[in-house]
Amino acid sequence: MLSVEEIRQLSEEFETKTPQEIIQWAVETFCPDLAMSSSFQTQSMPLLHMVTSIRRGMRVYFIDTGYHFWETLMFREQIAHEWELNVVDLYRNSRWDIFVRQHTRTLPFEDPNLCCYLHKVQPMQAALSGLKAWISGIRRDQTFERAHAKILELQSDGLLKVNPLLNWTKADVKRYAEEHNLPAHPLYRKGYRSVGCAPCTIAIGANDDERAGRWVGHGKSECGLHTTMFTHKNIDEVKKEFQLEIK
Ligand code: SF4
Repeated sequence: MLSVEEIRQLSEEFETKTPQEIIQWAVETFCPDLAMSSSFQTQSMPLLHMVTSIRRGMRVYFIDTGYHFWETLMFREQIAHEWELNVVDLYRNSRWDIFVRQHTRTLPFEDPNLCCYLHKVQPMQAALSGLKAWISGIRRDQTFERAHAKILELQSDGLLKVNPLLNWTKADVKRYAEEHNLPAHPLYRKGYRSVGCAPCTIAIGANDDERAGRWVGHGKSECGLHTTMFTHKNIDEVKKEFQLEIK
């Protein structure tokens, strides 16, 4: 197991390495206790392509919130089939079913943080428990929060998060996608440059920030997978934090 100091030093060294070199290190160090996550949007394709080229059969977690665009689900099916991916779909814990069914139409608008927590954060936490590390595709140029991320981040639960694309820009992603002729999410050409769930994503202009179409009007730019929301809570803590009056 790496010490906190070793992780800090490696993370600094990796600032000058290529994403492929960082992924190779992660594979050699942590497989088979390593997985990656993907939202199967256009910006996700380079990382997916790199990781699965380096390690075929790597677990790829896809969070199926139940609120996705039809195009996202079809694209995920197409890529999983054509690239022979080992995709594992993640769903919310069934203990929230009654609550969510009562609030299906309103939850994303009335409390998007709770909605993301139940549909994205908790399922990912459950899937990652027992692993040693996971690979994520965040970049520093995407959001204010991500601008301060490290290439290697030790989470409070002891899991190591590996961010190989952290130093890449939007232009790097585009260049790699063109060089490797990678497919684009079908909504990309319609102005959906960052595609999340349907209730929380709108099309944007060519010069807008990549994530400007996410959670518009909610003062929210992150789902919680890459923020301090990604800490383990029991059901009572969740109810208290989100002021839920449910059994
Ligand atoms: S992105 Fe919107 S619909 Fe999807 S989990 Fe978050 S709040 Fe809910």
